[in-house]
Amino acid sequence: MSYVQGATGEWEMVIGLEVHAQVISNSKLFSGASTVFGAAPNAQVSLVDAAFPGMLPVINEKCVEQAVRTGLGLKAQINLTSVFDRKNYFYADLPAGYQISQFTQPIVGKGEILLDLADGTSRKVGITRLHLEQDAGKSMHDQSPKETFVDLNRSGVALMEIVSEPDMRSGEEAGAYLKKLRAILRYLGTCDGNMEEGSMRCDVNLSMRRAGDETLGTRCEIKNVNSIRFVQQAIEYEAQRQVEVLESGGAIKQETRLWDTGKGVTRSMRSKEDAHDYRYFPDPDLLPLKLDPAMVESIKKTLPELPDEKKARFIAAYGLKPYDASVLVAEKTSADFFEKVAKGRDGKLAANWVTVELFGALNRLGKTIEDSPVSAEALGGLVGLISDATISGRIAKDVFAEMLEGGKSAALIVEEKGLKQVTDTGAIEKAIDEILAKNADKVAEYKSGKDKLFGFFIGQVMKATGGKVNPAMLNELLKKKLA
Ligand code: ADP
Ligand code: MG
Repeated sequence: MSYVQGATGEWEMVIGLEVHAQVISNSKLFSGASTVFGAAPNAQVSLVDAAFPGMLPVINEKCVEQAVRTGLGLKAQINLTSVFDRKNYFYADLPAGYQISQFTQPIVGKGEILLDLADGTSRKVGITRLHLEQDAGKSMHDQSPKETFVDLNRSGVALMEIVSEPDMRSGEEAGAYLKKLRAILRYLGTCDGNMEEGSMRCDVNLSMRRAGDETLGTRCEIKNVNSIRFVQQAIEYEAQRQVEVLESGGAIKQETRLWDTGKGVTRSMRSKEDAHDYRYFPDPDLLPLKLDPAMVESIKKTLPELPDEKKARFIAAYGLKPYDASVLVAEKTSADFFEKVAKGRDGKLAANWVTVELFGALNRLGKTIEDSPVSAEALGGLVGLISDATISGRIAKDVFAEMLEGGKSAALIVEEKGLKQVTDTGAIEKAIDEILAKNADKVAEYKSGKDKLFGFFIGQVMKATGGKVNPAMLNELLKKKLA
């Protein structure tokens, strides 16, 4: 457990996250307008989205299915009856004066998410609920010095609000939660999880309590933090701020704060509204949403293998360490890439080459696995050459560096450069003999007890042979010669 050290003792962070995930669907939650990102302002606005008088919402079945699919992926309760409510507030980007949301009866109830932590352990975090709601439009303050414009393209787009229990205890756990949730949404194809474009947004709720306390402290909510890194930074900052307030005898006001990326601080935005401020009531234009259990069952049948199951399978089938497996399954594309490399080969070796060498190289090159200069088949070829002892792991790194450059296969590079490992006992013995003859003095020192010289001899033989001698064989033969 990681505590925050204050002047008067240790404090524990309590974190709950609310994530707004934009539903992947061609049209909006209650209208047929398009949801494509990046269109000209107000190009995708139906009369319903603009709240013209008399317009009636019609529920989009696809969005409902996506919410159910997500609920199932979060191992959550699917509520066969749910209700849409009006959440009333006034803002320029909300033409109806209310947002259609779900309040007391959400479509999805309690579920859970398993966090994969860096030390290889997992931790369960409860999902409180998932409900469907409309997104609001966007106020544009940077178009004119005097006026604010409103773009309603986003108005009415379906969001899933996914609320966690206050189960997280550190910035690292909050980060792991968001990564896992994003992975699940992407595997399911229900949200693209792109935080930069705003299709996944996070509100952080944080309170502090003395280490060992059971009761929850008063929380602050930090709204719309738009990257995982910022979520973690905002948590670190806010935890310190709250500890300072509490230790100097102050009280935390329940309020909504903003993360100021430039200054690296959270700032008060407004005092927190209570639910009654929104005058929630069931939307009279919409009937309660009733799901057919057969529809839920049929969605269940189409669920893909999700990250946790894939991870378990990678551990069992390829003998991977839990941490390596969770790194590989974090993105479906890397998991698929790995499986192609590992197919019919040494899984552990394949995992190592993907997570260490390939990911390292992609990182340096600023590329993603989708545009990797080395294909899965090509990397598989290299791994195969190591496994069957054609080349050593050392030489393989040089071969890989060249593969990154040119698109040549590992086998071709090994052939062209004559990098084949020497596994002929006679040839290795000859190389050893030459080195020992040249270094008779060192051989004598070694025999009188200077064991460290063993490494020196290995290094010399490797140097003389361009690193191509099979290391295990060299070790064994040298031992014999020096015995
Ligand atoms: P609201 O819309 O008022 O913010 P929600 O129920 O949608 O309320 O979300 C509340 C979020 O705050 C949840 O993620 C919950 O886990 C978290 N939370 C509630 N109480 C605390 C607390 N004392 N400290 C930290 N987080 C909390
Ligand atoms: Mg909230």
